[in-house]
Amino acid sequence: MRASPIQRRRLRAGPARSLLACTFLALLGSAWALSERELEQQGPVQVRSHPVAGPVHWIEGRGGNLGVSAGEDGLLLIDDQFEDVAPQIQAELDKLSKAPLRFVVNTHWHGDHTGGNVVFGRKAPILAQENVRERLASPPADRGPSEPRPAHALPVVTYPQSLSLHLNGEEVRLVHYPGAHTDGDSVVFFTGSNVVHMGDLFFAGRFPFIDLDSGGSVRGLERSVTEILEVLADDVKIIPGHGPLSTKEDLRKYREMLRESIARVEKALATGKSAEEMKQEQVLAGYEEWAWGFVGVERFLETLARDLGAR
Ligand SMILES: [Zn+2]
Repeated sequence: MRASPIQRRRLRAGPARSLLACTFLALLGSAWALSERELEQQGPVQVRSHPVAGPVHWIEGRGGNLGVSAGEDGLLLIDDQFEDVAPQIQAELDKLSKAPLRFVVNTHWHGDHTGGNVVFGRKAPILAQENVRERLASPPADRGPSEPRPAHALPVVTYPQSLSLHLNGEEVRLVHYPGAHTDGDSVVFFTGSNVVHMGDLFFAGRFPFIDLDSGGSVRGLERSVTEILEVLADDVKIIPGHGPLSTKEDLRKYREMLRESIARVEKALATGKSAEEMKQEQVLAGYEEWAWGFVGVERFLETLARDLGAR
């Protein structure tokens, strides 16, 4: 059987790199499991929808923020959190429109954005960048509780680069940004409503989780955010993957934090410093307020040092 692009990349790693990779994967695997558990244990969930502009709404609950287009043509759902909150998500969708669910989009493969696929995949076709389907179909064994998803929970329409949906009076563009948060991220542009759902390219007001083991990249994330800033109108409304509805200014501040953090870590690496030394010297001093439960200052520093130091 021919190796997939992802498998080929895995196969290319030599023995020394494999050992290193295994150590990191084990660390990240346990961190990943922790994140899923943390998200599972947040107690009773309040799933609530909020209007954004035109037919677009966003829904907060547990896990990644959802985007919705609700109108005459039916419902479009961006991401679907976890299986056990699917009834609450459906209840919110029912309030927005009696029309049927037409499409589900997965912005990337992570479980807090695709866990509801097992429910919503029976109601409408799932669309995603092609690497999302591949990762959902065969998640790496060391990523905690992830298991291959059943066929009906996988994307049935995949695209390499971009795809447009024409519904509810506007063009909804799904655009792939390679090597950012993962290797399968899509950003959703609601072109008429002037709204964008950024998936996990944007953690509003927080350090991002950058999944290096799923093809994510620190520089790639910064580059993608910069490209997106260039095309957004000043008064755009931004639904982040995590955190509250945001403005272009919020996204710009996040990009500046990314740029400055990258610059500081590159400088430390150039003088031969290890991640441990960077932690002791508080290389990210002044950015403490961006820390949160899953990505504190030390973890973000480790991600930066690991990725920027790997040449
Ligand atoms: Zn994610």
